[in-house]
Amino acid sequence: MDKQQAKQRIKKLRETVNHHRYLYHVLDKQEISDSALDSLKKELFDLEQQFPDLITPDSPTQRVAGKPLKEFKKIKHGQRMISFNDAFSKEDMEDWRTRFIKLVPENQKNQIDYYCELKIDGLAIELIYKNGFLQTGSTRGDGNVGEDITENLKTVEAIPLKIENKKDIIVRGEVFITKKEFERINKEQKEKGLPAYANPRNIAAGSVRQLDPKVTASRKLDSFAYELLTDFGQITHEDKHKILKDLGFKTNKHNKYCKSFEEVLQFREHWIKEREKLDYEIDGTVVIINNNEIFEKLGIVGKAPRGAIAYKFPQAEATTKVLDIKVQVGRTGAMTPVAILEPVQVTGITITRATLHNEDEIKRLGLKIGDTVIVGRAGDVIPDIMKVLPELRTGKEKNFKMPEKCPSCGTKLIKTEGEVLLRCPNKNCFAQKRRNFYHFVSRTAFNIDGLGPKIIDRLLDEGLVQDPSDLFELKEGDVKNLERFAEKSAENLIKSIQQKTEITLAKFIYALGIRNIGEETAIDLAKYFGNIKKIREAELEEFDKIIDIGPVVSRSVFDWFQDKDNLNFLDKLEKQVKITNPKPASKKLEGRTFVLTGSLETMSRDEARAKIRELGGDTSESVSSKTSYVVVGLEPGSKAEKAKKIGVKILDEQEFLKIIS
Ligand SMILES: [Zn+2]
Repeated sequence: MDKQQAKQRIKKLRETVNHHRYLYHVLDKQEISDSALDSLKKELFDLEQQFPDLITPDSPTQRVAGKPLKEFKKIKHGQRMISFNDAFSKEDMEDWRTRFIKLVPENQKNQIDYYCELKIDGLAIELIYKNGFLQTGSTRGDGNVGEDITENLKTVEAIPLKIENKKDIIVRGEVFITKKEFERINKEQKEKGLPAYANPRNIAAGSVRQLDPKVTASRKLDSFAYELLTDFGQITHEDKHKILKDLGFKTNKHNKYCKSFEEVLQFREHWIKEREKLDYEIDGTVVIINNNEIFEKLGIVGKAPRGAIAYKFPQAEATTKVLDIKVQVGRTGAMTPVAILEPVQVTGITITRATLHNEDEIKRLGLKIGDTVIVGRAGDVIPDIMKVLPELRTGKEKNFKMPEKCPSCGTKLIKTEGEVLLRCPNKNCFAQKRRNFYHFVSRTAFNIDGLGPKIIDRLLDEGLVQDPSDLFELKEGDVKNLERFAEKSAENLIKSIQQKTEITLAKFIYALGIRNIGEETAIDLAKYFGNIKKIREAELEEFDKIIDIGPVVSRSVFDWFQDKDNLNFLDKLEKQVKITNPKPASKKLEGRTFVLTGSLETMSRDEARAKIRELGGDTSESVSSKTSYVVVGLEPGSKAEKAKKIGVKILDEQEFLKIIS
């Protein structure tokens, strides 16, 4: 990005960030998630680091967000209440260290140690004690002037009203609510027909910024103190916490002294894993240079001290740019538009592409090539574009148009009635063949170890295989000579292919890659027909008789088994592999259908499904009146709601385990 572009981008980012910060800090409202906003702030921060002369005093990186509401009396802070810059990765942390270490005197560079704290998702406050009594309590506001919320803070039990010290004391900390209280209050809101709060910070902020202290008192707010402005002879940040504790303030027992930078990184890694066990939400750690003198000397740049940083947890959402939209040819010829993204970390993993599903989805999002978007990972797995931020457009963004011809074979694309997807109708389309191959060997189909897309591409390109049935005829000598293919791996590959020559009928049907046939439908077909021969001979009407199979699916199975090429392929394949159709080991769950939602603690969902089938039961993807049970794990989806609505019995993991034991 050149300077002119950076200038433009910085301007737009500032406007957008300011808008959302105003909503968030002043109105306690939210249009985009915390992580998306953090991501925009980080981009702005990085750009300003790259072009420091473009920094202006009014940039959100230089100012603390928020403005005191006019309904409250204002309180001027004795010292400015700052906030921290964010780091999201080890690289960000190293950048931070590089920036501050330059400014530390040579003889102290080796003595830097740290104090690490949990970053609680709450609201920052300042408390002033005079003569041993709490005199005022205020919000951060814009950093210089905050709102007087003394009466409300007096209702918070963790905040002492009186301390055994007559000095004038200034303390800073956080008010927050526990996860339990968050749920309780939202339940109450719902019962009253009021909107639910988006997150605990939102409630904490909403609760202390009440004009009526009775409302505040009705909510069990908690508080930790983490900063002491009054001099008690403290040398380190750790000392401050000890003194605060001695004075009677509640400090967080999980905060920790860290001798090295390595320990700082470990502290965060530890809490990524342990955070669920806390009874309040944290969104990262705060890292502070322990030596107060060095910390003070490093000073403040913009709104944040140089000697501290918020090291945030992996974000569930992030913002990035859509560099291009490409069309991918699926194994059944479906054209799927895919967004090519500027690399970005989401939940700690770098992603570079996100499926856009179909043309309608692009229209729904209003997405253009070049747009800044919010990406997340749906169900923590598949990258997904959630929202476009049109306010960041430059005017150079381009509209996307689906191609008329297949990008692989050039055949004119068609749209089947009732479908949203365009398809390449060419049965011999190479891109489709390749995808079908990937599918055939995948974990849920033939499950051939060590045979990934890259090797398949090589085998296809070298002409060693034409269709998946050829795999079983491959000999070590065929692959050994491939460039960079070692003898050992050739041997292993052939071994793992030969190990998979026996397969269940259901998996076999699924592996064929018939359009609209997922794992569940394949199981239904296997159960109903019992062998391939019967499926081959079945009339179209026969398929309609199977419960759970609709006319579209019937048609597509029937058509597949009418196609001459497919039947030839099937003949070849049947000579190579042994298809089994094992009866369930037990009839314990016969006639009962299970739907699983959310993640289970003791087993994967695949394992749970296998167990149900072993006991003669059925599984399904969707809840209907035919469903016997819905098994609800952690973070369940809408299926649990639906089950409640139509009155299907819901099982938690313990109850489920009892049934299958
Ligand atoms: Zn094609």
